[in-house]
Amino acid sequence: MSDSINEKVRCLIIGSGPAGYTAAIYASRANLSPVLYEGIQPGGQLTTTTEVENFPGYPEGITGPELMEDLKKQALRFGADIRFGIATEADLLEAPYKITIDGEKVIEAETVIIATGAAAKYLGIPDEQKYAGMGVSACATCDGFFYRKKVVVVVGGGDTACEEAIYLAGLAKQVYLIVRKPYLRASKVMQERVFNTPNITVLFEHNTIGLFGENGVEGAHLVKRMGEADEEKVDIAIDGFFLAIGHKPNSDIFKPWLETDETGYIKTIPDTPRTKLPGVFAAGDVADPHYRQAITAAGSGCKAAIEAERYLSEIGK
Ligand code: NDP
Repeated sequence: MSDSINEKVRCLIIGSGPAGYTAAIYASRANLSPVLYEGIQPGGQLTTTTEVENFPGYPEGITGPELMEDLKKQALRFGADIRFGIATEADLLEAPYKITIDGEKVIEAETVIIATGAAAKYLGIPDEQKYAGMGVSACATCDGFFYRKKVVVVVGGGDTACEEAIYLAGLAKQVYLIVRKPYLRASKVMQERVFNTPNITVLFEHNTIGLFGENGVEGAHLVKRMGEADEEKVDIAIDGFFLAIGHKPNSDIFKPWLETDETGYIKTIPDTPRTKLPGVFAAGDVADPHYRQAITAAGSGCKAAIEAERYLSEIGK
């Protein structure tokens, strides 16, 4: 990290998803003069979705990119300083905290709101990109509604995959759960719920190698017992393909300073966005392995800004 401090700020927000922008709205209105760095994916995960129908206040729905643009405008309206740039290093040894942007500029911040989000993991097959927004999704709660009475796949064998399969089974005609191993990793209770749901079929020892369809996903190419002597190719007709093979929280640069769980989610004091460091808060998906919704992220961004304001007035800054 460079030794020179380029800029001092009272409130630094890192990330531009619903948590970051909401924190910026609240922090600006509280006169904290927040500076927000947008990160690698300005607007966050929602910019990769199409319709968002479950964010309160939009009775007709809104596209992910439009929602994020609205949140950004709202933050700008109250004077938030929103900038391009990626936080590449963090020094949280003591306040004021030092965050390096793009490997060169150092910001010295009295409070830091980490809202860097998480990224869904994908299998890495080219068809996932080809059919992005055309049948491929990594969020059943966001997109499941579009598959009412249809046939969908959920990939994964953990708790998330089971939960998403059960959720989708309430909407879709048929759900296939594609599991690469001969068993589920999910908790026993979730496994039982999956096995007791009549319209979920678990395909153990199956891997997906491709998708097909003219104007969207119409089917998946699977391989049963891949790499074994009795390996078998299986094609199934489907309308939607949901990934549930885990998320990776974007917390790497903070790990030396903050507690994280085994997956990398930043641990906060329960029911608050406070971390163990005074003045450092974590909001949205980077600290939330459970809900991962735009509205819950926005709510925690709001909490983080309120906490930052209280902390600054307590220390008289
Ligand atoms: P997990 O890491 O627990 O499970 C990921 C699943 O995806 C595994 O079955 C894994 O297979 C599979 N997988 C990973 N990569 C691939 C791949 N390339 N191809 C095919 N399959 C793949 O992630 P989850 O998101 O399910 O859960 C994360 C944490 O959150 C867990 O601790 C979980 O218990 C918790 N959670 C709890 C819930 C609850 O209590 N209600 C709900 C949701 C999550 P394999 O088993 O072969 O490695």
